[in-house]
Amino acid sequence: MAEVRYEGVYKLFGDDAVVENLNLHVADGEFLVLVGPSGCGKTTSLRMLAGFERPTYGRVWIDDAVVNTVPPKARDIAMVFQSYALFPHMTVRQNLAFGTKVRREPQQEARARVAEVADLLGLTPLLDRRPAALSGGQRQRVALGRALMRRPKVFLMDEPLSNLDAALRVQMRTELGHLHRRFGITTVYVTHDQVEAMTMGDRIAVMSEGRLQQVDTPETLYDNPATLFVATFIGSPKMNVVQGRLTTDRGEGAVVECLGVRLPVDRTRLLSGAREDVLLGIRPEDIAWRAISDGSGVCLMAEVDLVEPMGHEAYVRVLVGATPLVTRFPPRSGVRSHDQIELILDSSRIHLFDPTTGVSLLAPASGSAAAAARTPGYGADERRDDKSREIIESIRSPAGRTVSVRRRSDN
Ligand code: ATP
Repeated sequence: MAEVRYEGVYKLFGDDAVVENLNLHVADGEFLVLVGPSGCGKTTSLRMLAGFERPTYGRVWIDDAVVNTVPPKARDIAMVFQSYALFPHMTVRQNLAFGTKVRREPQQEARARVAEVADLLGLTPLLDRRPAALSGGQRQRVALGRALMRRPKVFLMDEPLSNLDAALRVQMRTELGHLHRRFGITTVYVTHDQVEAMTMGDRIAVMSEGRLQQVDTPETLYDNPATLFVATFIGSPKMNVVQGRLTTDRGEGAVVECLGVRLPVDRTRLLSGAREDVLLGIRPEDIAWRAISDGSGVCLMAEVDLVEPMGHEAYVRVLVGATPLVTRFPPRSGVRSHDQIELILDSSRIHLFDPTTGVSLLAPASGSAAAAARTPGYGADERRDDKSREIIESIRSPAGRTVSVRRRSDN
């Protein structure tokens, strides 16, 4: 087992930075999920940890060693890819045992390990089949089994479940969770699927356009997103975002006006630098329908645009004037398109963001896990040590920004 650390890591392809100043610490035995939309730099970050790409600047650590120049096979990592990467001409048994042959391990021990791993993953009846005679889920289990043949310091997984159908994905998520609890091997797991991230990660690192946005537990990311990007990326249906106007009264508190209503804001949570024009976010489940108002909610009239039944609930798309919102309704509510309904906004559950930077303007509510841990912030896991670096050049970031790159003088 091992801890992993990215320290001021950049990856440039040509002039373009696809990973920008990545600072991330993965604790010993942790299951960390790296999530973000396609092209945000997840795989590149993982490949730098695996040793398939070298950081342009910065350092990657495994335990106490900088591994920037250490070849993949000397890093004691095991990687599982989306594309299984099995040898088609070999049986499951041979695929599992392949690494032990390359490493010239004693074959008696290797046979025992194959039996153990096959048993663990339910592959024993399939040991003599070739990959072509396996289902997608079985192939994925062989790929996992191959990684499990060793107890590596770190597991790296790159979208390992993407080729599976929905039911198998759910099953494999659970199995991976069991395996991780059993062996406790530090794992970095890449996915673009926020549901996978939320259900699997001890912590989740959210990336966008090459930059780490926030790293925290699933609950904190959901309840206290540090940026508008995290707020709208995590959660389905997405958080509603509307324009608002924030006013603060001397002594009295703060109010945000939006959709024709005034919502009270807990002034003690307002971070310094909050401006008048804000973006207000509210999750669909924090908009109640015909809820009995206990005084904390604020009422507004809406017209139902579309009802999307999901079985256990329905997503109801409504229009407040011309502004669309999504709410969650109980099943069999009977509500239909064009119905006029009353909605209650839970003002204690709103989020406020700076419209220019997207950074949250509210500190976590007191008593929340995030408040107990720390106040979230942009790139919350960043550690800076500017004294030992010098600016050497400007680069173009994926978002088209020009960024000054600093390099450690001892790099
Ligand atoms: P996906 O979920 O689609 O795999 P990702 O978040 O894993 O996306 P990366 O594969 O890390 O993203 O790619 C990040 C960016 O780097 C992309 O714009 C990609 O086109 C670019 N990129 C990746 N590898 C190379 C390369 N070898 N040369 C040039 N550009 C590259």
